[in-house]
Amino acid sequence: MTATLIDGKAVAARLKQHLYEQTANLKEAHGLVPGLATVLVGADPASEVYVRNKNKMAQSLGFTSRSHHLSADAREAEVQDVVRALNTDPSIHGILVQMPLPPQIREAAVLDTLDPAKDVDALTAANAGLLLSGRARLVSCTPMGVMLLLKEYVGDIAGQEALVIGRSLLFGKPAAQLLLAANATVTMAHSKSRNLPELCRRADILVAAIGRPQFVQGDWVKPGGVVIDVGINRVQGTDGTSRLVGDVAFSAAAERARAITPVPGGVGAMTIVCLMRNTLIAAMLAAGLDTTLI
Ligand code: NAP
Repeated sequence: MTATLIDGKAVAARLKQHLYEQTANLKEAHGLVPGLATVLVGADPASEVYVRNKNKMAQSLGFTSRSHHLSADAREAEVQDVVRALNTDPSIHGILVQMPLPPQIREAAVLDTLDPAKDVDALTAANAGLLLSGRARLVSCTPMGVMLLLKEYVGDIAGQEALVIGRSLLFGKPAAQLLLAANATVTMAHSKSRNLPELCRRADILVAAIGRPQFVQGDWVKPGGVVIDVGINRVQGTDGTSRLVGDVAFSAAAERARAITPVPGGVGAMTIVCLMRNTLIAAMLAAGLDTTLI
């Protein structure tokens, strides 16, 4: 392997320490304790783990953390009532509704009740619009994690060709906006795009968020390019055990790239810390404080 490994775990650990210190300062100087509330509907085991980890990290940083767990057959109005109550709770600055929601509940209907100032996943239409207008306060966690990794390992990306494969509201669209705001020349690809290998070979920065194991082949990577693998896919090995792989064929890509994120230990490590960062920012904005150091 010739590429530099982009160590998301190390960057995330440093950011976590910074947030811990900033939270302690905030408490001492202003008596302000950031509060994160999670809302989980149903008993999906992966979602339960995600929510537990989010509450645990919030507590480890000195935040107030509250979890609301509704049954899988909860009605949409019940979930909306929980969100509305959290909207008006002054001790809560960030509300995370764990997705996906059960089929009887429309995600958009729940997001439409969420106060954008407490939308720490940045999924509401208001926050998507603010990002588009260049006035974002809260930015989607995984795209923000990617930008922080690029800042650390690449520096200025102005004028570089960036390709984002995937156009989800959660990742692809906000990631493209952030890359554009950083003055990259951005192309977005999706399942209907033609000549994907050719689009990839042009990319100085190739960002894959597809959800297909090892889909991006090594010889699609531009020699000397940077590869950011957002995908998290569980695959079965020949020995019957399972392991996580990304959307990029890692070993072959690492032979051509200048730098590459591993899976696990790359982008994924950043997401939860960026959620904490957003909660701290939301608390500071609510108190009218300057967030530029966060
Ligand atoms: P998603 O909503 O399913 O979107 C997948 C995107 O990939 C869609 O835009 C789809 O295109 C595109 N796509 C599918 N097949 C394709 C193909 N053959 N060629 C080109 N594009 C194709 O997924 P997501 O929520 O963005 O997540 C993507 C991956 O990132 C998943 O593995 C997920 O687990 C991972 N993820 C990781 C984190 C993290 O913390 N690291 C956070 C979020 C997501 P269409 O729009 O045309 O269907």
